[in-house]
Amino acid sequence: MALELEQFDPGPGAAPVGHFPEILSDASLSIDAAYLHVPFCFHKCHYCDFYSIVDTGDRQARFVDRIEDELRTMAGRIDGAIGAVFLGGGTPTLLEPELLGRLLEAVGEHLPLEAGVEWTVEANPETIDEEVASRLAQGGVNRISIGCQSFRPRLLEVLERHHDPDNVARAIDRLRSAGIDAFNLDLIHGIPGSTFDEWCLDLEDALALEPEHLSCYGLQYEPNTPLTKKLELGRIERLDEDLEADMYEHTCSRLGAAGFRHYEISNWSRPGAECRHNLVYWRSGNWLAFGPSASGHVDGTRWKNVPRLTDWLDSGPGTPVVDLERVDASARVGEHLMLELRLREGITRQRLDELLGRSDPDGRRRAVIEDALSTGLMLRESDCLRLSDRGVLLADSLLSELI
Ligand code: SF4
Repeated sequence: MALELEQFDPGPGAAPVGHFPEILSDASLSIDAAYLHVPFCFHKCHYCDFYSIVDTGDRQARFVDRIEDELRTMAGRIDGAIGAVFLGGGTPTLLEPELLGRLLEAVGEHLPLEAGVEWTVEANPETIDEEVASRLAQGGVNRISIGCQSFRPRLLEVLERHHDPDNVARAIDRLRSAGIDAFNLDLIHGIPGSTFDEWCLDLEDALALEPEHLSCYGLQYEPNTPLTKKLELGRIERLDEDLEADMYEHTCSRLGAAGFRHYEISNWSRPGAECRHNLVYWRSGNWLAFGPSASGHVDGTRWKNVPRLTDWLDSGPGTPVVDLERVDASARVGEHLMLELRLREGITRQRLDELLGRSDPDGRRRAVIEDALSTGLMLRESDCLRLSDRGVLLADSLLSELI
């Protein structure tokens, strides 16, 4: 799953505050990655707060025309080549195969891509038939991120996630036959009513499919989702915190024993198979965003495209943006620390000194770090500062203090 940067509809009243790409400087841009958001799903899962709508099939062609216009606005603006492309959603593989092919072609035509670009597409296992698999491979896609979440039908039901777990293996077979053999599998632990043993089985089922990358997230109760409503109404119960911590610890030890490198709080990969696209996010690199509700960042300018499909379709060729932030130097330092410390390798002393030398109002950030070191939530190891295993469990609150 691409990181949670494409949030659910922010509600009425979010007026455009500028247009992409005019919000960026006129100079040539150095871009590390591109994210494209395809907002169609065949059903809305109950835990999901990504912007997506149930597909009725009648707007797919307009969507592809419009995103092609958006891509075209970048012609001649990019200096060098882009190393990672991510088509997320929504369910990009729900596009009609011909339209999916056109979209992939447009990316290759309008964006300068590195020869060895990592090109990922998110997929729901129900949507990968032979034709889709072959369109993806022909279009240059070389990595698929499959939303599994769980292999236990009763837990998928709790999430109101509609797919047959057996179709994950079938989808992978079809993709491998088409020539794509790099996979991420998304799994969710902490599902209400789940047991430790069920989580262990989910991990084993995932490992049996021999992915090169696994994203294992704790279930989040996002505002305004049906799952959160059920929680508030007392129809489901949050899983016990200690049980969730046990599940996470088991994930670390089991995937470590299977040869996976734990490189980010929720992400494991075979050595060298880290997700290049997400590393751009965690290292605060520059990425462009296309499609409704997609968020981008270039040199301290952050923005979010207008989130409603209708508004986005009716605009163009530039895109109205509803959130625009010119991040100041101090806030950028806070973001760098918060994101880079999510990486298990941590940051070097030199990098830490460089960041704190740029901005550390009243020594506040250094004090947070010293405190975390003294309580064992952070460690200093061979010239690097990183979160300890215990610190990882408290990462969200700890790292937010560095902002
Ligand atoms: S398939 Fe993915 S994007 Fe679509 S509703 Fe489910 S979780 Fe959200």
